[in-house]
Amino acid sequence: MLFEANFMNSAEITSRTRSDRFREAWRLGWGLVWPAVCAGCGAPDVALCAACRRAVTGPAFFQPVVGWPPGWGVWAAAAYGGTAARLVLSWKERGRHDLTGPFGAGMASALMACREASSEPASPWLLVPVPSSAGARRRRGGDLVAALARRAARLVGPAWVAGGHGPPPIVAPVLTHQRDVRDQGELSARARRKNLAGALALRPGLRLSLPQRGCVIVDDVVTTGATAAETARVLTSAGARVLGVCGLSVALRR
Ligand SMILES: [Zn+2]
Repeated sequence: MLFEANFMNSAEITSRTRSDRFREAWRLGWGLVWPAVCAGCGAPDVALCAACRRAVTGPAFFQPVVGWPPGWGVWAAAAYGGTAARLVLSWKERGRHDLTGPFGAGMASALMACREASSEPASPWLLVPVPSSAGARRRRGGDLVAALARRAARLVGPAWVAGGHGPPPIVAPVLTHQRDVRDQGELSARARRKNLAGALALRPGLRLSLPQRGCVIVDDVVTTGATAAETARVLTSAGARVLGVCGLSVALRR
């Protein structure tokens, strides 16, 4: 985690740990007066039932994306819709950050499938989370996609090394928004591309050298692929090589 530590100073780490502890204490206290229900189906007394967990933990599959070069697509653990969509919504908009754990397991399976399908040499891969806007981070109490990437990296590490794929992947939140964008939810594919064109940039003061580094883009939901394409544009123009895209879930082509 040497590289990851470069992205945050110790004060940030301390405040994150404190806020994590506060959230955990709040959740536990709340659970005493208001019992947990499954975030996917509402079943009582369980935060995530076994059936809903299975909807987001894989096995991973590959989904080509319309408009991307031939052979390019997304490795994902779930098709977006139904239970998976309800869970992602609970995670993003209803404070169910406890879902980062099972989502991490799904993302880890997507990452492992992506790695196993690649003939890249065994140098450490960078996992680049698609950045959240400042507004989304404020609303959600943090960068959920970066948290998802960190959880997945921890989970996949042992299998990655045991599989002969070199050092475990490193989470590298190297990108940021350089201007405001509209909420993508209601936009068409063409409008999404326009909304995002030139919206992302490398984080100022970045100390990580990107040229020739192998990167995998990580996002929670891939729909039209516009966000991943903009992310790939910035990484490629910084000299990095984009090796794949992994999503927790992907909207299947109809
Ligand atoms: Zn359930």
